Amino acid sequence: MTQSSAAPSKSHVFTDLREWLEHLSATGRVARIKPGISLRHELAAISKILDGKQATYFPKPDGHEVPVISGFMSRRSWIAEAMGVPESELLARFRDAAAHPLRCEEVAHDQAPCQQVVHRDRDPRDVMPIPTHSEHDNGPYITAGLVIARNPATGVQNVSIHRIQVHSKSQMAILLLPRHLWAIFKEAESKNQALDVAIVIGVDPLTMLASQAIGPLDWDELEVAGGLHGKPLRVVKCLTSEVRVPADSEIVIEGRLLPGVRAIEGPFGEFPKYYSTQEEREVIEIDAITHRKNPIFHTIVPAEMEHLLLGMIPREASLLAHLQRSFPNVLDVHLSVGGVGRYHLYIKIRKTHEGQPKNIICGAFGAHYDVKQVIVVDDDVEVHDPQQVEWAVATRFQADRDLVVISGAQGSVLDPSTTLGMDLHEDSQIPTHVAGISAKMGLDATRPVKYHGHVFTKVKVPGEDDIRLEDVIESSAAMRFS
Ligand code: MN
Repeated sequence: MTQSSAAPSKSHVFTDLREWLEHLSATGRVARIKPGISLRHELAAISKILDGKQATYFPKPDGHEVPVISGFMSRRSWIAEAMGVPESELLARFRDAAAHPLRCEEVAHDQAPCQQVVHRDRDPRDVMPIPTHSEHDNGPYITAGLVIARNPATGVQNVSIHRIQVHSKSQMAILLLPRHLWAIFKEAESKNQALDVAIVIGVDPLTMLASQAIGPLDWDELEVAGGLHGKPLRVVKCLTSEVRVPADSEIVIEGRLLPGVRAIEGPFGEFPKYYSTQEEREVIEIDAITHRKNPIFHTIVPAEMEHLLLGMIPREASLLAHLQRSFPNVLDVHLSVGGVGRYHLYIKIRKTHEGQPKNIICGAFGAHYDVKQVIVVDDDVEVHDPQQVEWAVATRFQADRDLVVISGAQGSVLDPSTTLGMDLHEDSQIPTHVAGISAKMGLDATRPVKYHGHVFTKVKVPGEDDIRLEDVIESSAAMRFS
């Protein structure tokens, strides 16, 4: 088989951010923006327009020496490309890496580019260009920071991405959703202890993706990054704590989550394309900032494709694995973009028994609290195509028979429809409903296992999948018909 010499071989895996950016740039997928763009709104606006088309590179934003990059993993096909697999094998590859994590390789401080420059006692807003993204955001936010903590009870690390509002030279407020970092910190806080953390900004796309792997507590996501890379991830010990961070990352903020301390955070425009309200949140005290010489700052524009895909792909992989344990006839899953990559799950099955889709719907609700709506379709429906899924609902679903509704379950606190707004007759500022209590809806859009004639046979033209247009089109030049 011959291959273009310009393109890397199909099995090439991108393990380095700068190599990946060069590859994107060489293929026309990085827009270099004019210097001096404003960090406040303008940078996010430009990235948003180019979302899913080109990554955006901003030299000297607001005159800052450090450039900003955004949107370098904003298409599903790009992520598959970074993994070195066809898009159809994306979930299988991620699942395989999650099942075969590789231990990290620790390197000395002088072998770690991320510690080439060390700052103590400097304002993060002076060291790095931190954008303010959306209209009502309450200031600059770090949105692409991998927060790494070590569970003091076990010594095992945890990696997750959190929005972080930079308040001052020494303190930042962080949103902790009720998952692993939250659990580890609550345990430390109950003993009135601080929890060492590092915020890592600027890592390769596969390490970004690995940070979102859904596994049990005490399962180090950096080892999944090694699994995706096909080689151990190089890590280095922080200068002020025992936390290990990717040695080849761009920027690291070392600090501690403080027990019993809270600060105002928000509003902030989040992935569902709504604002989270201002609340008292946990606080990180900064101890040191380290970075490469000439670092690049990565920002994720909230709710754009880079943000959605980061949640979608690892979740799809783990939802598929979870469902297939109980239902081997589940073939594929998709979290739709319209469902903000979190809330609406499409499941493709090879149906063998009546009633089966409803069992699968119940299984999916148990897999992740964010899943709010499930649509089960047959194997003749392309589950990644929302138009085909809607077709299945239009023609194979009857609401009185095929609908499952479960009230009062745990949902996403970022879903505004879980609140009912304010009581207009009171002088109260308190929402009248607890955020995050959600109804679940499941739709069985499958056809009966047995049916009469061709009542449920999808119309197909023989040969439509096999025609090669280059074999049959003679010319598309303008013709005269008169
Ligand atoms: Mn975890």
